[in-house]
Amino acid sequence: MGHEQILQQCQKLYDDLALTNVRQWKEQRPGRKAIGYMPIYVPREIIHAAGILPVGLMGGDMEIIRGDAYYQSYICHIPRSTIELGVSGRLDALDGMIFPSICDVIRNLSGMWQLMFPDKYSRYLDLPQNYAADIGGAFYIEELRTLLADMQRIAGVEVSNERLLESIRLYNENRARVQGLYDLRADQPWRVPTSELYLLLRAGNVLPVEEHNALLDAYRAAVEALDRPQLDNSRIVLRGAFCEQPPLGLIRAIERAGCYIVDDDFVLGSRWLEKAVPETGDAVANLAQTFLDHSVQTASAYIGDRPKGEALVTRCRQRKGEGVIFCAASFCDPALLDQPMLAKAVEAAAIPYTEFKYAENNGQFQAIKEQTGTFSDSLKLWVQE
Ligand code: SF4
Repeated sequence: MGHEQILQQCQKLYDDLALTNVRQWKEQRPGRKAIGYMPIYVPREIIHAAGILPVGLMGGDMEIIRGDAYYQSYICHIPRSTIELGVSGRLDALDGMIFPSICDVIRNLSGMWQLMFPDKYSRYLDLPQNYAADIGGAFYIEELRTLLADMQRIAGVEVSNERLLESIRLYNENRARVQGLYDLRADQPWRVPTSELYLLLRAGNVLPVEEHNALLDAYRAAVEALDRPQLDNSRIVLRGAFCEQPPLGLIRAIERAGCYIVDDDFVLGSRWLEKAVPETGDAVANLAQTFLDHSVQTASAYIGDRPKGEALVTRCRQRKGEGVIFCAASFCDPALLDQPMLAKAVEAAAIPYTEFKYAENNGQFQAIKEQTGTFSDSLKLWVQE
């Protein structure tokens, strides 16, 4: 598959809020099930091992007719669009939903979902915030075993340890491919525009992992063969967009303003585990231990006494980022409460930054383009000094 074809397929999946590909996947074999999950992290291996398609939901840019009636005005947008997707029937292909513990909004949404869709499976997945193996780890193993039992019941199958290990292997391959593209983008950002990489990640929310792995391989081969010009852009690390995603137009606006995004936290669930999960031994315990030991640092994860912002500064150095853009959804408590601490850390490290907020249904990007363009120009001046 060629480069244009890959992007067209990803764009089509991105635009399709009615999950047509999920419906088609289910129709191919009667009895197939699909389970949706909210950002950020859900152990997709457990869903996949039961033969169920995990489907990542990230709201969407659409007209909100009924979704607004469920929420006050001063919270983020993603719960409204998710409700709208549900009540408008666009999520009918899903046999259930999983709501990971990211923030109060998602937790409340899980309760509302249970009331609104009592006939469908709906589960609040409590991810541990205590990372000690005998406390948070033991708790999380129980959570995962319960989730696995639920998936087996829904699919009507028994999942052996070997089968779960095989799913882990496939998702390890997926994480490695995604990470490989992130590394390639940091080395040669002109080869891998973030607006393309983002579409690839979003495709992974709705495609079976086997297909997504093949798509990532095809994309990598295609961009390595393309002869793209290297521009004199600034190298930017972007933070804050881990849950409600910015519109694609906003990412393109940042790029067109002269920025190479060399690191970001878009669609973070697919990169939550920073190391491969062991592929032998007790599969559930492996998933739990990798979560404890190798979770990415982000606003919704507790990091104890470690200073906030240290990981961001380290990442900036690794990726040769010249500046940071804090780009968070309006009213996103986790992102916006962390932001001053992160800003303090990058300031102490003499890394310039700028910040703005967005909503997933923003349609105007001119002001952001001007702001990021000015920021990019000023970085060039500072770097030259
Ligand atoms: S955007 Fe922020 S506040 Fe809203 S649901 Fe996501 S994490 Fe919670």
